[in-house]
Amino acid sequence: MIELVDVSLKYDNETTAVDNLNLKIEQGEFVFIVGSSGAGKSSIIKLLLRERVATSGIVKVNGYNLNKIKKRKIPEFRRSLGVVFQDFRLIPNLNVFDNVAFSLRVTNASPKYIRTRVPYILELMGLTDKAKRFPHELSGGEQQRVALARALVNDPPMIIADEPTGNVDPELSYEIVSLLKEINDCGTTVIMVTHEHDIVRYFGGRTISIQKGKIEYDGYLGGNDESE
Ligand code: ADP
Repeated sequence: MIELVDVSLKYDNETTAVDNLNLKIEQGEFVFIVGSSGAGKSSIIKLLLRERVATSGIVKVNGYNLNKIKKRKIPEFRRSLGVVFQDFRLIPNLNVFDNVAFSLRVTNASPKYIRTRVPYILELMGLTDKAKRFPHELSGGEQQRVALARALVNDPPMIIADEPTGNVDPELSYEIVSLLKEINDCGTTVIMVTHEHDIVRYFGGRTISIQKGKIEYDGYLGGNDESE
């Protein structure tokens, strides 16, 4: 669950990147956040991940009040989110299995659990035969599926994907969003930032359009995806 109340973010007290924003996203929703470059999308994501603290207003994510959260609680908060970035951010010297296992190892998961959980998630993402490959041996679409597997392996209640199709071939972009939709069908909240209007038009659903740090539109689009 996300709740923003009168939230503003100013950089250096000059640029107002987020301007008095009010927003509520419930558990289980799939939401596209759209807007042109410089609109404030990344700034909103930074607030949600607690990489930045709001200049004013209240930011609540997954039961944590991010204005008041203690430093020592931030790692625990971040584990309640799976995050996927445009540039994948895989660890280059670890193979696919170990990239995904890494997310579990940092939480002190048992080796036995890792041995069953990682193959299960790799299978869900269609990556079973790539387990021993290194990131540079994979296509962009495959690397992004590994990043998704890594985001999912801890079974977080929410996935935040910041332009996840930005470095992926157009036809594979639809596959990435379809995977996010499947994850959402299992109850996980998904927030996806994108500037690709074709994707939003195709999938439809709740779409929040940001312009100059404000919400310009928040509503439901029809979509053309016949599998829905
Ligand atoms: P988007 O993700 O939609 O492209 P951003 O959130 O990155 O937009 O940027 C919103 C505004 O904030 C822009 O005017 C941008 O120049 C400014 N901005 C972003 N990051 C910083 C920063 N670290 N310092 C100062 N201004 C910034």
